[in-house]
Amino acid sequence: MPYGYCGNILHVNLSEQKYWIENPGEKFYRKYWGGRSIGLYYMLKEMKPKTEVFSPENILIFATSVVVGSKAPMINRYTVCAKSPLTNAQGEAEAGGYWGPELKKAGFDAVVIKGIAEKPVYLFIKDGQVEIRNAQHLWGKGTLETQNLLREECDDSKIRIAQIGPAGENLVYFANIVNELHHFNGRNGLGAVMGSKKLKAIVVRGSNNIQEHFPEKVREITKKITARVMKNPLSRDLREQGTVAVIDGARKAGWLPTRNWSDNHFEESEKISAEEYHKKIFEKNGTCYACPIACKRLARSNDVSLKINPELGGPEYESLVSLGPLCGVSDLDYIAKANQLCNQYAVDTISMGMTIAFAMQCYEEGLLTKSDTGGINLKFGNKKAVLELIEKIVYQEGIGKLLSRGSLRTSENIGKQSKKFVHQVKGQEVPMHDPRVKTGVGLQYALSDYGADHMKAAHDTFFTDEESWGLQETAGLGILEAVEVTDIGPKKVGLFKKLDLLWSLFDILGVCDFGYVPRSVGTLEELLELIRAITGWKVTWYELMKLSERSINMARTFNIREGLTAKEDSLPEVFFRNFKGGILDGTGAIDKEKFKEAIKLRYQMMGWDSQNGIPSTGKLAELGLEWLIL
Ligand code: SF4
Repeated sequence: MPYGYCGNILHVNLSEQKYWIENPGEKFYRKYWGGRSIGLYYMLKEMKPKTEVFSPENILIFATSVVVGSKAPMINRYTVCAKSPLTNAQGEAEAGGYWGPELKKAGFDAVVIKGIAEKPVYLFIKDGQVEIRNAQHLWGKGTLETQNLLREECDDSKIRIAQIGPAGENLVYFANIVNELHHFNGRNGLGAVMGSKKLKAIVVRGSNNIQEHFPEKVREITKKITARVMKNPLSRDLREQGTVAVIDGARKAGWLPTRNWSDNHFEESEKISAEEYHKKIFEKNGTCYACPIACKRLARSNDVSLKINPELGGPEYESLVSLGPLCGVSDLDYIAKANQLCNQYAVDTISMGMTIAFAMQCYEEGLLTKSDTGGINLKFGNKKAVLELIEKIVYQEGIGKLLSRGSLRTSENIGKQSKKFVHQVKGQEVPMHDPRVKTGVGLQYALSDYGADHMKAAHDTFFTDEESWGLQETAGLGILEAVEVTDIGPKKVGLFKKLDLLWSLFDILGVCDFGYVPRSVGTLEELLELIRAITGWKVTWYELMKLSERSINMARTFNIREGLTAKEDSLPEVFFRNFKGGILDGTGAIDKEKFKEAIKLRYQMMGWDSQNGIPSTGKLAELGLEWLIL
């Protein structure tokens, strides 16, 4: 009997309205484990190169892992993979919440979806039983209404639902998938892939607990970690302030992304401090399955006309900045409202904020006019215009149709000088962390297979102090020395190779980055013990690092197959220029040549060809990926 996993992978062909169950066996699970690794396996095996994103042949995979669904803390995430409309490359997005563990309880480790349904459908999966059900009556509905209708229809308030909103249905290139209304598979537009398949939702419900090999051990370690949550400053801060606290660091240090990155100093930033947030719009903490930290923020507003519903979540750091200062907006109630609109339509707040901010800058520069915007005054700071544009983008009205393809494609359409206002990597808009003050984050933006993403590795700030929790607790991975935040030499490249391996591993296993070292309370020793206790496998860190490296090489191979080259491993020009204004004025530019050298060095460290970043035959063979040798 398998421990930790179910041994069942559900395959669904929506064109044929058929499903079947694969039982891949222990060797498969020990090689690929879960998450992005299982997603990439099916994308590489079963999708032809250059498949059209919205065609029936694009494969949408929902994958948990061999350890998700146990009682172990902060191991609850699942990954969605498909070819992304935004990047035309490997698409990937992780979400916490409750859906992943429930899928396991319902008897499946992953769901692999092909084809396109003739009419909208949803999948209903309960204790090993699968139904493809009509969803015509749900099409067009927001996420809250859909959840309510499905609970009523299934006569079960405990079903867990991964769903798309109108953004996914309308093929907005940065649409999300969401479970429990505020846990998002954000970024990469995978909600649009789901929408193209006319799949509104996947409903799961299960009553079978995951079998753990040593349940006593899992309980013992869980108790130990839980008891430390309020003692460890990192997890305590996450519980008390969530990621919102990052905004205070950014504004005080002078790198707060403002007005589409044209500025790094927002004169009204005090109005959106963590303190103001908690005074003004914080309702309560939210959490995920088996998590004692509960870092999520649920928002409210005293302005009843805005109709803010805490059930739909609240802005975290990324949303707060991208829908706030990045658009020149400082009104917390309006930022909460913009965030809520994005959540009820299930669309990515980073790409949404970035695309609106881009349009605002084009308007300020005269590249867009009122006749383009349908009469909307798109000046920075117009908080009502942000709300209007969200609606227009989701429903593809007027200028919204153009913007719904993201800032890069919009700029290709506008032409003129607009390209210089686009800040993206591989077509995906950059998140709200400035690589000029954390060069390792810049390396990860550039090298990420799925476009700029701040969750691709831990950030530089955890490794600048020899006494830090990060450095103390990751020595076993060979991380032994502090490195300056702005260093871009071999030490930084080596550090971020290791961190990429660690965080890609988290994404395979479904481990929350906010639960374990270096970002939080759980140690790597405890994580390894938990993995062993759940699976019963005699796992080592060597095996886990190779597992992670395998997934990185699979993603790289997929993208090369799709035509991506080393040219795409770059940063937006804005980061090679000095900061303007504030305390960092005239400083900060990343040296472009040194950055290029760093990328080449990283290729070498990965065993890839140093000019083009192509995995060598030897590397693929070493990782058991001989089936990918081109
Ligand atoms: S730390 Fe936050 S994101 Fe991570 S599992 Fe807990 S509530 Fe979810």
